[in-house]
Amino acid sequence: MSEKNLPSVAYFSMEYGLHSDFKMYAGGLGILAGDYIKGAKDINVPIIPIGLKWKQGYTDQRIDANGNPYDSYHNYVYDFLEDTGVKVTVKIRGLDVICKIWKTEHFGNNPLYLLDTDIPENADAWITGQLYGWFGEERIAQEIVLGIGGVKALRALEIPVDVYHFNEGHAALAAIELIREKMAGGDTFEEAWKATRQEIVFTTHTPIKEGNESHPLSRLEYMGAFNGLTRSQMERIGGEPFNMTVAGLRLSRISNGVAKLHAETANKMWKEVPGRSPIIAITNAIHTPTWVDERITRAYEENGDLWSAHAEIKNELIGFIEERSGIRLNEDNLLIGFSRRAAPYKRSDLIFSRPDIIEPYLESGKVQIVFSGKAHPLDDTGKRIVSNLVSMMKKYPKSVVFLENYDMTIGAMLTRGSDVWLNNPRRPLEASGTSGMKAAMNGVLNCSILDGWWPEACIDGENGWQIGDGFETTDFELLDRHDSEALYDTLLGRVLPTYYDNREKWTQMMRRSIETTRTEFATKRMLEEYYGKMYISS
Ligand SMILES: *Cc1c(COP(=O)(O)O)cnc(C)c1O
Repeated sequence: MSEKNLPSVAYFSMEYGLHSDFKMYAGGLGILAGDYIKGAKDINVPIIPIGLKWKQGYTDQRIDANGNPYDSYHNYVYDFLEDTGVKVTVKIRGLDVICKIWKTEHFGNNPLYLLDTDIPENADAWITGQLYGWFGEERIAQEIVLGIGGVKALRALEIPVDVYHFNEGHAALAAIELIREKMAGGDTFEEAWKATRQEIVFTTHTPIKEGNESHPLSRLEYMGAFNGLTRSQMERIGGEPFNMTVAGLRLSRISNGVAKLHAETANKMWKEVPGRSPIIAITNAIHTPTWVDERITRAYEENGDLWSAHAEIKNELIGFIEERSGIRLNEDNLLIGFSRRAAPYKRSDLIFSRPDIIEPYLESGKVQIVFSGKAHPLDDTGKRIVSNLVSMMKKYPKSVVFLENYDMTIGAMLTRGSDVWLNNPRRPLEASGTSGMKAAMNGVLNCSILDGWWPEACIDGENGWQIGDGFETTDFELLDRHDSEALYDTLLGRVLPTYYDNREKWTQMMRRSIETTRTEFATKRMLEEYYGKMYISS
């Protein structure tokens, strides 16, 4: 692909994971966005990313003396941000809020524009304070800055745009600004909505209905999110309460889910929404230079010794774990990595569900597991999951580790240096799961439920393992029992014997894991699909 004649795309995202210490991200959605705009730079395509400049980012979450997570926030300063000298104004609660616009291409990414309300002119400078830090009014204020402010920023910077891409529903208010612009030019609401739809494409990420954000219309109105539209016009777009995903689906010409299975799930979830755009599948991908260890790439490409390259990286991980936790794992024994957001559907503790089965392996150290992950600051259930993992570490101090304050550094270390990458969500609730791609390309073998991206990649017993058979039921008790049995069968019956008794086969599987994923799940393929199926309208 070349830049010539390609539509230029304004890409809106609440978060960007570009570097561990650039705290503009919380999790998978942001990591995807960060990888996306690095990949866009690599192949030179005109994608213009827009986001918010978070003062404190997402929570720093550590473990206290009782083994429970606690949150803390710090102000961060970044000296590499360029001041564009441009400011735009949005109206929030009837007051002018001025947004300063920063720019950075510091991480090998397409120039990223970040809106910032933390300037002395503003009475409320805290709108861009904490990423996902608050609910309700504050979230809407952030979304006004991202959406309405984002469109105004593009105008003020005089950047021409052909397509607006909303990475998740957070940016839906950008469409309300596009509609307002057209109505100011003389269009009726109907005309403006129709024309705006032709410019927008939308990516949905969340297969859990409650995870799709909504707000009462009265609150949106009070905050200023109507932006000149009437209540009934807003209701036609997003319903009452106003659902950001429903709005995204009705404001776009086409939408996508982030894996084939997820697109199926999303089509079922939203089938009752009249007037929505079709949802196709474009599977997520990763920026390989960011996540894949060069020593593995070299060993793979030169047909070198993959196992010894891996052993070296695994040793570094073991050193890193010891530095962080004081626990020294055994480099000869199987090391399982598991890092994810602490959400119940991810079932971090499924492996502990039958102590009678797993305990002997943990006591002997034949199975070692390192966990990491944050709970949302306001999610008590998630916090209990973290506390439970920490208590498992105390119970099995030689073989279970929890690393606090999950970030991109921990993510990279674990997906490079573990032997096995474990993933056991309640199918079909994992939309994609890019950490598994990072692992696969590093020759870290996936052992996973057939959810998210894995059904597309898994050749069972050849490039990794599937847990179970894709069983689904809304009876979670039954599902958990079924899947925990399947997990033990796969892990103890197939993974362990290969690891301990057949190193040659293991190394062969590492090679297949890399071979079958390195192109298919790299950002270039994903970007080409977005251009071919979403951005270039037929
Ligand atoms: C890769 C990554 C994610 C996304 O991984 P999932 O498989 O979706 O859990 C989230 N957080 C960090 C820090 C990552 O590196």
